[in-house]
Amino acid sequence: MLDLIIRSGLVLTSDGAESLDVGVKDGVVAALGSDLGDARTTIDAAGSWVGPGFVDLHTHLREPGQEWKEDIGSGSAAAAAGGYTAITAMPNTDPPIDTGHLARFVADRGRDVGIVDVIPAGCLTMGRKGSAMAHIDELWDAGVRMFTDDGDAVADASVLRLVMEYIAQLGGVVSQHAVDPALSRAGYMHEGAVSSRLGMYGIPSEADDIVIARDLALVELTGVRYHVQHLSTFGGVAKVAAAKEAGLPVSAEVTPHHLMYTHDDVADTDSNFKMMPPLRTERDRVALVDGLSSGVIDALATDHAPHAALEKEVPFEDAPNGVIGLEWAASVATTTAGLDIGSFFERMSISPARIIGRSDHGQRVAEGCAANLVVFRDDEAWTPTSTISRSRNAPYLGSELTGRVRATILRGEVTWEVT
Ligand SMILES: [Zn+2]
Repeated sequence: MLDLIIRSGLVLTSDGAESLDVGVKDGVVAALGSDLGDARTTIDAAGSWVGPGFVDLHTHLREPGQEWKEDIGSGSAAAAAGGYTAITAMPNTDPPIDTGHLARFVADRGRDVGIVDVIPAGCLTMGRKGSAMAHIDELWDAGVRMFTDDGDAVADASVLRLVMEYIAQLGGVVSQHAVDPALSRAGYMHEGAVSSRLGMYGIPSEADDIVIARDLALVELTGVRYHVQHLSTFGGVAKVAAAKEAGLPVSAEVTPHHLMYTHDDVADTDSNFKMMPPLRTERDRVALVDGLSSGVIDALATDHAPHAALEKEVPFEDAPNGVIGLEWAASVATTTAGLDIGSFFERMSISPARIIGRSDHGQRVAEGCAANLVVFRDDEAWTPTSTISRSRNAPYLGSELTGRVRATILRGEVTWEVT
């Protein structure tokens, strides 16, 4: 008998989308077709898409060091509820993940919780200070494939060149928080009409564009695989498109909040609209949506950034940057970009798994592949009102979204189901 049958969904296979039942046994997809017989558990997927579980390239789990915001347990639960079967844990924890044993700690804690694969990313520089190279070799041996000082850009071009050369030899990916520290230091939001009206210091779009342009020159020099985190500007999208056109090994992500909101939403200074890089103009937002639709932007990545209420419920200028997003990212993708089933799974699962080098995730459904799956209803309207994350700093609460995760399956085990 099969362990699980997902019945009557529109399934993304290597031949395209087909109406099929998916049978799972011992953690792998064991049968595809109709009349698969009985199973211990059944999920009704009529009207839903069935495809590879989502893979996030940008999750802040806050463990070790800031567990009052989130920990690997609560963050894993939020990820499962959002349809994720693998998430990349950002290394800007306390202490930062700059050595092998710290990366192993994060991966082990994820394995103990066991409801999503927690893949540690490692720092580019020691302590994220931007001067000395992190223990890249140790991190690599611990399974790290993505390196980033996320939260800060590596400002020193000679340091970045050195780590790029080192990581290029290993075959890893350098992931950059592409915001110039000097141009962004004094600002709280996008520099434009709204910041002028509010009398608030702004961050110009050029803060992103300058870092991306400089880094692309270093990618040409070093040949390293390079990933732009949380693209926020029209100019950034154009630079990534041109680099791809020129054949450079470049990929990019966009967050759900940059797809959905603009600096106009900052007008009443709700700190749930404060993030880095900031929400920008409608022209930028449209470029990001178009980039995700066309594939210039490879992946939706959450930049899930939990903060406690007592930290966020302060004057806008004093609030920390970031919002949570794991539980609604896929819903925001279908609400804003209206992707078809193929491009949806390409951006949510297939491309991010390829970027992080995980062949056990992000595979089109086929007999013999790991049963890391999601059931997603793209036309279901719903309004989220609560969170599974330990934190509640989410702009989406109370907003109607179209598209909802119905169930998540990790190696054949149901880790989330809407009943
Ligand atoms: Zn960042």
